[in-house]
Amino acid sequence: VSIALNRAKRSLNRDHVYFEKEMEHDTRRRLSIIHALHEDFRRDRLEVWFQPQIRADDQAAVAMEALLRWTGEQGFVQPPNVFVPLAEHSGLIIELGYFVLQRSLEALSRLNDRPGAPVRVSVNVSLAQFRQIDFLQRVQRIIAESGHPPQAIELEITESIAMDEPKVVSNTLRALRAFGVRVAVDDFGTGYSSLTQLRQLPLDAMKIDRSFVLDLAEPDGRWLVESIIALSKRLGLESVAEGVESAEQAAQLRDLGCDLLQGYHFARPMPLSGLLDWLDQRAA
Ligand code: C2E
Ligand code: MG
Ligand code: MG
Ligand code: MG
Repeated sequence: VSIALNRAKRSLNRDHVYFEKEMEHDTRRRLSIIHALHEDFRRDRLEVWFQPQIRADDQAAVAMEALLRWTGEQGFVQPPNVFVPLAEHSGLIIELGYFVLQRSLEALSRLNDRPGAPVRVSVNVSLAQFRQIDFLQRVQRIIAESGHPPQAIELEITESIAMDEPKVVSNTLRALRAFGVRVAVDDFGTGYSSLTQLRQLPLDAMKIDRSFVLDLAEPDGRWLVESIIALSKRLGLESVAEGVESAEQAAQLRDLGCDLLQGYHFARPMPLSGLLDWLDQRAA
């Protein structure tokens, strides 16, 4: 028994050392990514791309979502799913967030008075940004200085924001909406917020997560999306489907009463120049 125990201990130790080495390697990798991200942000190498949101009724491109891109000479350096969580952890997301808002408003200026161009832009907001005590004031100031109506901006929050100190969050949201900014809950159905919490939030729109759209082909999936759209209607919210990749999905979602459609079937996220070309082609 003691031999076996010793052997087990030795192997535990070995695994432990191995595990620590792995962690160290991981931490170093994360640190080097965040360092490079800081550098590239400072050197103005981050971009904001835009993906149109199509009104299901008449296919008009009424809005768009702003999405951060970290592009280098050889293409994307890291995808947002990798660098956004790191930027959240390091706090860089706070400055990045204002940068995205600024670029989004500039994009609206470039699109101004173009027939058929989006008149509203949705900007993703992280919990770390939301927790800044001057978040409300800075957002108000940036929008006021842009000359665009606050109604042209929608903030996309996740369910995790909704659950973080519900009182503080709903007060901030209320103030933002009183100012005129719209609020959408992103990736709806993937988080852990309860319907009670959701009902108490001042919201304008609900974004149905891509995973539900993927399951539309199955009867259960269709029923689920139908229920989510019904729920959003009952709450008086606009519904936006994410990840619409086919004409069938688009038609199904329209038939189910979904208001806005976003996905590769219509357009991928594009730099502003690409969006302008896309709008030209559509108009032609
Ligand atoms: P999200 O806010 O849910 O954004 C939608 C994601 O779905 C985007 O991924 C978009 O490119 C992708 N997408 C759109 N249509 C389709 C489709 O038809 N099929 C598929 N497979 N994907 C589609 P992206 O740009 O890689 O961003 C990933 C996530 O990173 C975002 O998810 C958001 O949570 C975060 N993110 C991106 N930009 C920002 C930002 O400026 N600020 C913050 N806080 N987070 C951001
Ligand atoms: Mg989003
Ligand atoms: Mg989303
Ligand atoms: Mg999503």
